[in-house]
Amino acid sequence: MQHNAEHDPLTDLPNRALFTRRVQQALSGRRATDRGAALRGTAVLFIDLDGFKAVNDTHGHAAGDLVLQSFADTVRRNVRDTDVLARWGGEEFVLLLCDTPAADAVALMERLRQAVQAMQVPVAQGGQPITVTVSIGLARHAPADPLAGTLERADRALYAAKAGGRNRVVPAPCLR
Ligand code: GH3
Ligand code: MG
Ligand code: MG
Repeated sequence: MQHNAEHDPLTDLPNRALFTRRVQQALSGRRATDRGAALRGTAVLFIDLDGFKAVNDTHGHAAGDLVLQSFADTVRRNVRDTDVLARWGGEEFVLLLCDTPAADAVALMERLRQAVQAMQVPVAQGGQPITVTVSIGLARHAPADPLAGTLERADRALYAAKAGGRNRVVPAPCLR
């Protein structure tokens, strides 16, 4: 019951509410116990599938669901157990990286973009496998910031990735 209330049934990823709770726990725990880790920083990534409506329109909703499951598996394989990945809603996902230097976070977002681009989701009756791309926005979280502010900056960076042509990653400008 508890699991179902906090996870998305399609991908079994945490939902938005559990994500927010996990993040608050991670941030408050770290602030209290490990200032060094806090300084190394956390980052929030928003990941949105590109042109996903067309995937549904072309291949059907069930195939779209398979793509979302493949996507979740692909990202899970590329992040650490301590990172918090969640389904934000629809075809939009959020990832919190803990204790990750800025350069590593940027390298990871590019690695994720490439891993998703390389995915081949099989379709029935031996047609061409489905491929998709993602746009990713990233914002670094400063310990004093409210989470909402970091999420908003990551979302703006995602918007810039979309506006810039999709299938790309955009780190938000660092505020400090
Ligand atoms: P953009 O590149 O701008 O993000 O375009 P988009 O087509 O991905 O964005 P849009 O918001 O127009 O469409 C999102 C689509 O995602 C529409 C919706 O039906 C689909 N979607 C959301 N949740 C699910 C789901 O659980 N399963 C399936 N199959 N489709 C979903
Ligand atoms: Mg989309
Ligand atoms: Mg979207």
